[in-house]
Amino acid sequence: MGVTPLVPAGGGAADPTESRSPTAPLRRARIDASAIEHNVRVLRERAGTPEFLAVVKADGYGHGAVTAARAALAGGATWLGVADPEEALALRRAGVDAPLLAWILHTDADFAQVVAAGIDLGVSSEEQVERVAATAPGAAVQIKLDTGLSRNGVDARSWGRVFETAAALERRGALRVRGLFSHLANTSPQEDALAEARFADAVQLAKGAGLDPALLHLSSTAAAVTRDQSAYTMVRCGIGIYGVSPFGDPTSLPDGLRPAMTLASEVAAVRRIAPGTGVSYDHVWRAEVPTTLALVPMGYADGVPRAASNRAEVLLGGRRRPVRGRIAMDQFLVDIGDDAARVGDEVVLFGDPATGAPSADEWGAWAGTIGYEIVTRIGPRVEREPS
Ligand SMILES: *Cc1c(COP(=O)(O)O)cnc(C)c1O
Repeated sequence: MGVTPLVPAGGGAADPTESRSPTAPLRRARIDASAIEHNVRVLRERAGTPEFLAVVKADGYGHGAVTAARAALAGGATWLGVADPEEALALRRAGVDAPLLAWILHTDADFAQVVAAGIDLGVSSEEQVERVAATAPGAAVQIKLDTGLSRNGVDARSWGRVFETAAALERRGALRVRGLFSHLANTSPQEDALAEARFADAVQLAKGAGLDPALLHLSSTAAAVTRDQSAYTMVRCGIGIYGVSPFGDPTSLPDGLRPAMTLASEVAAVRRIAPGTGVSYDHVWRAEVPTTLALVPMGYADGVPRAASNRAEVLLGGRRRPVRGRIAMDQFLVDIGDDAARVGDEVVLFGDPATGAPSADEWGAWAGTIGYEIVTRIGPRVEREPS
């Protein structure tokens, strides 16, 4: 099929200080923990709430949950949040002892172990409230309310009942309601304001039922940087702490935030091609003039989105270079024109734009998605290392 033979990257003697296999191509996600720490500091100051929850679900948005958790705590986060209780338990096993909240629950689960580990549960239904109290008496819960997202969270029609049930369990010592929270749809300022008003109603209703939740939180990164937080005690920031935009627009990273992940590889082969030569599957791109292609040994199995084929750019030799043709499972090609490149030269797919590299947000735009999906889908062949 005319596929370029893969020249082993590096070529020379293995460096004994490197952990990578001497025969495997380089695919690395370098994680700058100091950027996460810095971003938490910036976001925390911007939000101004007494508490700050750093969201480290999905392996810290692909950055490594433990790395992200430690960096966020160093930057002033007072809480950590994850989706699954199992993610919270993994943090505890790694020695992370900060307050933790997990909010995607399996209603039939036994929560004893999770609660014994000091993990708060975000409950989204009356069944969950009862299940937590039954399997883990004394648990601390935070009740998640639907204020317009129509996802999880207690439906507004059930707020009264859930508050009454929780208050009764609290009086018996079976449960403690530490917080109330919700999540915005980020559809428009008007819709967000409506959700905030609904949340305020819910807080009144909960107080009327005898609850006295210490934590009230509504905002993820987007709202933490755009909406007034004076009514709340906490924000829950995920994407922003990794230096990726919450707004789905590559130019919209909030001021002062720095990308924490650099995705890099190295040139595995170089070849000169003649005009008319088709490149990669389906020949969606053909050279019009003689040019030089550099082969990058990463592909969609590594999280490089195929949808960005023939559109994305990478940093190579100090300049941005266009991706030509389809991104395959393990490799893609970039056009370096009449410049030279050597096997082993570093290729940065994305990183800090201040270095000239594209951002994860740009890759999101090229692939018709958002930066969130780019960083969370880095594949298992990619090694993570501190930068
Ligand atoms: C993922 C998540 C967040 C974090 O959102 P970002 O947009 O990444 O800041 C906050 N709250 C809940 C409930 C979430 O599921």
